[in-house]
Order: sequence, then structure tokens, then C-alpha cells
Amino acid sequence: MGIPVFVFAGLLVHCVFLASIFDIYFTSPLVHGMTPQQTPLPPPGKRLVLFVADGLRADSLYELDSNGTSRAPFLRSILENTGSWGISHTRVPTESRPGHVALIAGFYEDVSAVAKGWKENPVEFDSIFNESKYTWSWGSPDILPMFAKGASGDHVYTFCYTAESEDFGAQDAAKLDTWVFDHVKSFFNSSRSNQTLYSALNEEKVVLFLHLLGIDTNGHAHRPNSREYKENIRKVDEGVKEIASMLENFYGNDGKTAFILTSDHGMTDWGSHGAGHPSETLTPLIAWGAGVNYPQRVASQFFEDNFLKEWKLENLKRLDVNQADIAPLMASLIGVPFPLNSVGTLPLEYLNNSAHFKAESMFTNAVQILEQFKVKMTQKKETTLSFLFTPFKPLSDSEQINLLKKTRLYIQQEKYDEAVSLCKTLINLALEGLSYYHTYDRLFLGLSIAMGFVGWTAYVILVIIKTHTNLTKAAQSHDKESTILLYGFAFVGLIIAFFLLIQTCPWTYYVYCLLPVPVWYAVVKELHVIQDLAAYLLSLPVGQSMGFLLICALGIEILVFSFFYRSTLTIGLLVFAGWPVITQLWVQAKTTALIWILLCMLLGIFPLMPVVGREPNIPLVIATGLLTLLISCSSLSSLCKSKNKYMNNEDLKVQFYQMLSIALSTYVVSSTHDSLQNKQGLPVFNQIISWTTLVSSSVLPLLSPTFLFQRLFSILLSLMSTYLLLSTGYEALFPLVLSGLMFVWINMEQEALQQYGLSLKPKLAVFNFSYATDIMQFRQLHLDDVRRSFFFVFFIVTAFFGTGNIASVNSFDPASVYCFLTVFSPFMMGGLLVLKVVIPFVLVSCAFEAVQVTTQLSSKSLFLIVLVISDIMALHFFFLVKDYGSWLDIGARYPSKQCENWSKRRTIFLLVILPIISD
Ligand SMILES: [Zn+2]
Ligand SMILES: [Zn+2]
Repeated sequence: MGIPVFVFAGLLVHCVFLASIFDIYFTSPLVHGMTPQQTPLPPPGKRLVLFVADGLRADSLYELDSNGTSRAPFLRSILENTGSWGISHTRVPTESRPGHVALIAGFYEDVSAVAKGWKENPVEFDSIFNESKYTWSWGSPDILPMFAKGASGDHVYTFCYTAESEDFGAQDAAKLDTWVFDHVKSFFNSSRSNQTLYSALNEEKVVLFLHLLGIDTNGHAHRPNSREYKENIRKVDEGVKEIASMLENFYGNDGKTAFILTSDHGMTDWGSHGAGHPSETLTPLIAWGAGVNYPQRVASQFFEDNFLKEWKLENLKRLDVNQADIAPLMASLIGVPFPLNSVGTLPLEYLNNSAHFKAESMFTNAVQILEQFKVKMTQKKETTLSFLFTPFKPLSDSEQINLLKKTRLYIQQEKYDEAVSLCKTLINLALEGLSYYHTYDRLFLGLSIAMGFVGWTAYVILVIIKTHTNLTKAAQSHDKESTILLYGFAFVGLIIAFFLLIQTCPWTYYVYCLLPVPVWYAVVKELHVIQDLAAYLLSLPVGQSMGFLLICALGIEILVFSFFYRSTLTIGLLVFAGWPVITQLWVQAKTTALIWILLCMLLGIFPLMPVVGREPNIPLVIATGLLTLLISCSSLSSLCKSKNKYMNNEDLKVQFYQMLSIALSTYVVSSTHDSLQNKQGLPVFNQIISWTTLVSSSVLPLLSPTFLFQRLFSILLSLMSTYLLLSTGYEALFPLVLSGLMFVWINMEQEALQQYGLSLKPKLAVFNFSYATDIMQFRQLHLDDVRRSFFFVFFIVTAFFGTGNIASVNSFDPASVYCFLTVFSPFMMGGLLVLKVVIPFVLVSCAFEAVQVTTQLSSKSLFLIVLVISDIMALHFFFLVKDYGSWLDIGARYPSKQCENWSKRRTIFLLVILPIISD
């Protein structure tokens, strides 16, 4: 196989592998074609007011201040005197969009929505707004348009402020909320002189949606324990009070208005959201007005958490719901059909209505979810051969009819409690069945993808052995044999294709199932290499080859584990520290080995530290800047002393500029954070310096001398100045320690090479990149090169997870980009954050490049080994993907478990992308 064909095949296999993850695990669970279901009895309310206080934590709303008063006195009096309250449990990702979709459309968005961008609708979905007669909404341009766009016809109206007014730093974010309250008031005032609007407002099935972004913005900027966040809650409470009384006046106290206040997600103590920490997943829910139950006094109630006591609410019944349950609740309060894709269960205890109404509503709820199950089953049945189709047994056609009939009968006989409990059974079975059909093909597809991927990895190993080692003898090809082989595999491919054809599978299935055929054909064609390899392995002592395999497996396991427990990296680094002692390199180069051991241990501290950004520590960043300056000063002076004859004044100038830029960065970090602390915003001068540093850091290293260490040092200085600007705490030290270790690594590899007697002993100090390529002669691969490649992969993983950067991409701390901008802009902020993550990666890659050149290896062979290592890891992760997003665990309330699964999902993307980007 030629090189272009090989690269193309590799890219193809990886792309298919990546795409299959979305197809197998992250497909949209939504189905279409159900009929809307509506309770036949008259609803209690004519209109519904939904307040969503974005980013409001349950405890921030319910807890009392230090002096024993509530910071939301109006809402507190509601839940004590007129309404019902509880905690609404959200699911990960705790972002605004999925939160609002769960609230308003009643289902949990899958990850494919994230991948396709949050802004637009990846799938069509139905919502309460769509089912209403009219909906008027006020708030952020990030949220409102998505429901207006999905709605059919022209009955959902939005009023948004501009995206630019969402400023994180200088202004008072509570103004976003006062904007909403003021506009609602003037809207209703204006309706008195507009007859069409006035009569529309007096219709039935009207929804008013107030999206309040101030609390979220203040939480990001100042953290939830700040005065600003708490003060914002007070403002929202006042606003809700004013709106409620204004509406009662407007409608002449007709008692037909229902109110619901909740939030889309919470927020961590350090001002982020996205993951599954309880502070993010527990949100408040307060309902009052038409059709809502009054407070229920209880003597005692049991919950595992201690909140009731903390909030002094032990005697008021707490009614917890899942976030998606709020959608059916709203629907039944104003009598609109349940959103078609809703998987929520009506929380009956919130309703103040007859038992008959409750039973009928519950029945509607069950039929509505059963509709989805039926559509899903029909879809699966149509695309599967009838003798291969295994239906979901607990909910067969006859069982469905039986359950529905029984419930109807109970309702007729006025046995409402029995009817309700039967409906609950039906709902649970239907949800289980939905998940069953949704994951129907998963095992089969997963196995065939894994087959293809294993085949590919095996092929790469064979290529390495064939072209870069002297294990194999020259191959003689047998034309006849290979023709038979070709026909054999073509036949198998045809059978598979035929099989898929009669099942009318989607075209992607053909790709997944046919891919293993050519891949394994390529493997089997290299049979003689396999034979030679087997002969070689058998000639070795059993202990040695087994030991080698064991170490390989252990190394990969450590890497895989480090994605879930960062501290595993520390264990790995400690083993690395022992490497010179075990291999006797220690004897050869005592000083280098000692520095190696020290730096390994130093770097091992970082994975044990908490994820960055939680506790800002600007003095530490400044100290790092000064330390970098000190190091570069000493390197400069030693350069001048050594009077290297290849050095000239130009080179010294470049280094001087770089030192200047480090000093400036240090100054900018300290002055920016001072100025933000004093609420003076980001100084323009600092912003200019920051962006200039960013741009110049990509150019300056190109002007530096081409001697190995000088070039690497110059790259370090440039990247360091950018990294300092993006740091808020201890992580500033990370690239410094990492690159220290990288410098020693280059030296150590040189020593290791001498141990095998392979080195031509080029002097590293005067090693020059510009002559390197033509004097170089590539050598054959050695077993030690597998270790070299493993070191590289390990250091790359350390670079990513050492400070937990990747873990916080999703729920990042905006404070780390304050030197560049303070206005909220997801694209810019995301870009800068990715840059921060990439910098350690670049450092490691440069060091590896140096190792590869100085140890006279072809980059192709080393790359292939790295590819094999990361492919094995990727396959490992492929089977670790957990689809907790199935509807089964809607009832499960284990946020920490969800959090873990969510981070697993993220790692999948990374690990599969790793082999691709290293191309
Ligand atoms: Zn939000
Ligand atoms: Zn937010």
C-alpha cells in the first residue's frame, strides 16, 4: 500500500469511528407522528406566567440570611401561605438550552444537539408555547428565538435585548432583569389602547414567559456567594411581586392566572455550570395561583439531604420533581395538549383539583407517552426482518390494550387512586420500552465498528514490523492465493450488503458493517508477516514476551484511568521517576537522572491539585512571571559567558524582546485583575498589550537561533507570556515545570540511546535543526522506541489533564480570559480557552520532535507507534461510553454518577480526535 492510500485509509477508518459514536450513542431519541393528547375536562386556569431565573440555585433562593430573614420575602410568603414548592432536579449538561427545553418541551436534549450547535434547533420539537393560543416572551436573545422558531404559525412573540448588553464585567447585570420587568409592564399598559392585543391577552391558553438572565450573569462574574448574586435575587423577587400584582389588576382578580417560578440550572460555588454537581442540578420550583395546591403542613418529612432544616421549611411539604415534569404541569394548568415529545410525569401533588381531574390528566399523560412508544416500535419493526425482530415483551400490543381498558374502567367506577397508579405503571413501561427500541441496534453496530477498528490497528502493527524492523524476510507473493482471497472477501461483503438491503437499513449501516471487510482483507494479505512475527515471539523466552505484553497493557490502562481519575497521572509520573534507576541509566548520568527524578515528582503534584479556576491566586501568577524572567536571565548570562561562536547580536535581541514580553504579561495580569476588583473594567492599554503578545508569540520563535536548546527555550518563552495572560492561579507554573521535564527528557533519551550503543553521539548543545535533516540517517526500530512513543502519549495526556483544563472547558471560568475581553462572546472565549489548553500540548510536541530527530528515528515510524497506542485507548473508550441519557434514569437522582458519565463522554471526543490531529 502506498503512503497516500495508507493515510487515506487511516483517515477514513478514524472518521467512520468518530461518526459511529454519534450514530450509535448520541442519536436523537425524538420520534414524530404522534397525535396530540389533551385532558377532556375544563382546566383551572386561563393563562400561565412562567418566570425562569437563569442560573438560580435552589439553596440561594430558599435559605435565610444571617439575620434570619429571606432575601426573597415575596416568594417566601407565597410558599408559606398560598402555593406549593419543591426542588426541580435537572440533568446534565446543566446548560441554558437543554434546561429550557426540558422545562418547556418536556424532554432531555441529547448530545447531538450540542454537537450541532446550541443556537438552532437540530430537531423539530413541540413545546408548551407551540401548543398555546398565544405566547409572549421577554428576555435573552440566546433563548427565546429557539422556541419561536420551532413553533408552527405565528403565535409565539419574542422581545429581546441585544447580545452586546450582556456584559460580564463593568455594568450591573441585574439590569437585564429590570429590562424584562419594565417591558412587560409597558406592554400591558400599551394593550389598553390596542383593542386587538387587549382581546388576545384575554383569550384562554395564554402563556407569558419571563426569562431573567441577570442572576446567571452575576453568578459567572462574581460567583454565587457574592453580594451581587444575592442582591440580584432580591431584585427578581421584587420584580415578580410587581408583575404578579400588575397582572391581578389587569385581569380584575379573576383567579384564572397560574404562576410558576423556577430556573434552568444552578451554579457551582466558583461560578460555572454544565456538569452534574448538586449545586448545578438542584433548582427551585414555586407554583401558585389558579389550579395550584395550597401549602400542606406536615409534622415531619424525610429527605436524605439536610436542606429542610437549613431552610427552616421542615413543616411545609416539599414536592420534588424532575425538570421535564414541569411541562405537563403547565399544560394541565391551562388545558393545552401535552408537548408531543414530553417524557415528563404530571406531578399530581401540585394540583388543587378534583380526583377525577387528576385521574383523567394522568391518563392523558400515559396515553401521550405510549403514543411515542408505539411510533418508535413501528419504526423499528419496519426496518427489521420479521423473524429477527424481538419486541419489548412487558408492553406487547395486547398488554397495552389491557392496561388502557382497565384504567378507563377504574375511572368510570370512580376508583381514581387505582387509575392513577395504573397510569404510572404504564408510563414507566412505555419509557423503558422507548429506551429499549432506541438502543435496539447498539450491540450489533458496536461490535462491527470494533471489528473494523481492531483490524485497522492490527494492520498498522504489521506495517510497522514490515517496514521499520528487520524481523521479516523478503516476501514472495503468490498471485493465485491472493486472487482466491480477494474473491472470498468480496463474497462476504456481498452477503452482508444483501442482508442489510432486505432490512432497508440506513446507508450509514452499510458503512459500519462493510468497513471491516477490506480492512481484514489487508490484514490477511500480510499473512507472512504474522507468521514471521509468531516465529520470532516463540523463539524468545516466554517470560520476556509475556512481561513485555503485561507492561504494555499496564501502561495503556494507566492512561485510560487517568481520564477518570487525574491522580493516576501522579502514579505514572512516579513510575517514570524510577525509570533511570531500573534501567541503570542512573550510573551513566547521575546529575541528569537526579534532575529527571525531581522534576517528575514536581510535575506529579499538579494532577493532585483541584481543577483550575476555582480559587484564583493572582500573586502566584505574578511570582511565576518573575521566576520565568529569572530563568531567562540566567540562561542569557550563561550564553554570553560561553561565547558561542555561532551566536550573534540578532539572536540576543530576540531573546531580549521575549523577556520584555514576559515582564509585560506579568504586569498586565496584575493590573487587570486589580482594576476589575475595583470595578473599573478592563483598561484598553492592557487589552492592546494582551492581543499584541498573543500575535507576537507565534512569530518571535521563528526568528530565534536554530540551535536545539535555544530554539526550544525561545518557544517556551513565547508560549509562557501568552499562558500567563490566561492564568488565574497555580496552573501558571505548569508549563514551566512541564518544559523543564521535557528538556531533561531530551537529554535522557540521548543517554538511553548510548546505553544500546546506537548513538553517533552528536553534541546536543550545538545540535542545529537547519542541518539536521541532511546528515541524518534513519535507523531501524528498537523495542525501546515503543517506550519512547509511550512517554510521548503519556506526556500529552498529562499536558491536557495536568491542570484539569479539559475538564473545565465545558464549565469554564471566564476570569481566565479577562485580560483579553470582558464582554460575553462564546466564540472568542472558547477560542482563547482552547489556546490555553493547547499550549502545554505544543510544548510536549516540540520536545518529541527534538527527541525523534536526535535519536535518528523516522517520524513516520514513531507516529505509527503513537497511532497504535492511541487507537487501542480509543477502542477502550468506545465501550466505556455510557448512555445515561436514556430515559430510564430520569428517576435516578445520583448527580455525581451523572457527572462522571458526562466527563466520560467528553473524553471520548478527545481520544478519538487525538489520533486524527496527530496526523
Ligand atoms: Zn442558563
Ligand atoms: Zn450561565
